[in-house]
Amino acid sequence: MDFTLTKEQQDIIKAAREFALGEFPDVAQEFDRNESFDLNIWKKACELGFVGVFIDEKYDGAGYGFFEHCLINEEFWAVDPGIGQAILSTTFGSELVGLFGSEEQKQLVLPQLVSGQAIMGTAITEPDAGCDVTGAATTAVKEGDEWVINGSKMFATNGDLAKYVLVFCLTDTENPSRHARHSFILIPTDTKGYESTKIRGKLGIRASDTAELSFNNVHVPVENLVGTEGEGFHELMAFFNRTRLHICAQAVGLARAALEESVRHTKQRRQFGATLASFQVTQFKIAEMATHIRAAKNLYYEAAWSVDQGKIDHGLIAMAKWFSGEMAVRCADEALQMHGGYGYIDEYKVQRLYRDAKILELYEGTKEMEKTIVSRAVLGL
Ligand SMILES: Cc1cc2nc3c(=O)[nH]c(=O)nc-3n(C[C@H](O)[C@H](O)[C@H](O)COP(=O)(O)OP(=O)(O)OC[C@H]3O[C@@H](n4cnc5c(N)ncnc54)[C@H](O)[C@@H]3O)c2cc1C
Repeated sequence: MDFTLTKEQQDIIKAAREFALGEFPDVAQEFDRNESFDLNIWKKACELGFVGVFIDEKYDGAGYGFFEHCLINEEFWAVDPGIGQAILSTTFGSELVGLFGSEEQKQLVLPQLVSGQAIMGTAITEPDAGCDVTGAATTAVKEGDEWVINGSKMFATNGDLAKYVLVFCLTDTENPSRHARHSFILIPTDTKGYESTKIRGKLGIRASDTAELSFNNVHVPVENLVGTEGEGFHELMAFFNRTRLHICAQAVGLARAALEESVRHTKQRRQFGATLASFQVTQFKIAEMATHIRAAKNLYYEAAWSVDQGKIDHGLIAMAKWFSGEMAVRCADEALQMHGGYGYIDEYKVQRLYRDAKILELYEGTKEMEKTIVSRAVLGL
């Protein structure tokens, strides 16, 4: 396997970094403090072609792989995780539409996401169904030529901003298999009975919108079923095998930022008549961070490369996801530690990185769930 990036991939990285450095630093603290975001930055990112690069050219995307989307994620998160998430999560669900949607659904949704005319969300988690997605109890009942949806969802990214939300619904309560009861339904958020309530007070990625959703007799045409009825669980796993790669890239980006801040600070800060960087304890921390980042990067490069070759290795993706999330949390912790008391104050970027990092061990599969997948693959269970 050759990990050398093509000229095009190197150009993508350079352009993404330049864009992020030009747009994010001046507003990052304000967005974090106020839990706000300026959608004009997202629009600009769309205009410059950073959003939905994995979407097929037929639907106005760049037709690149998920790997290129990962590269952009990594660069955006290396500058500011919250803003990176606010911009690049706007296509969350398009992967599933691309894999399983009808031609009409693709034509309707995908070009709007690329061009900055629409934001998307995907709602799976419920108050009583988190890691156990098969416990999702939001119902979709077929009445004539419509689905009628009732229930609620938790923690939906972009729930307040989205034009379309892909909702994981219980469509067959009778099926004996818990893996054959659910289906995805596309809901335009201006449909009567759809309500979203912004969740405030998040620990990190505070520029990114998160909402609680409720569906009260929401009617949509039967054609809004995405994929195959009853196949929702398996479609969700296929979806996660793509989107989890993005989280790995986010983790590597965040950890890189933690390392950059640590190098800068420890070379400047002097104690006991010498820079912090001159102490071996500091040097070892830096060495460990750099090594762990490289290892996580190689893991996700291999996993993303495999997916783009059409080879899905569920265990490898899960390995990359938990390893990179845990690695980012550890790097952010060490970075704060090396900043001493200053790192505890929100004027310093490492405080934000420390708070932003935790989500990487939670969303799109907690690290415990990822380790469960890895152990099952290894033990052949
Ligand atoms: C900022 C943010 C954005 C999010 N965005 C979205 C989104 O867009 N769409 C969406 O659907 N969801 C989203 N989520 C939800 C996220 O995916 C869930 O929070 C996550 O899957 C865990 O579910 P839970 O919170 O209900 O935790 P629980 O399932 O209650 O788990 C709690 C703890 O128990 C552990 N645990 C659970 N079961 C087991 C087991 N069998 N063995 C060992 N340990 C176990 C978990 O690993 C975890 O540590 C988001 C969450 C946040 C915080």
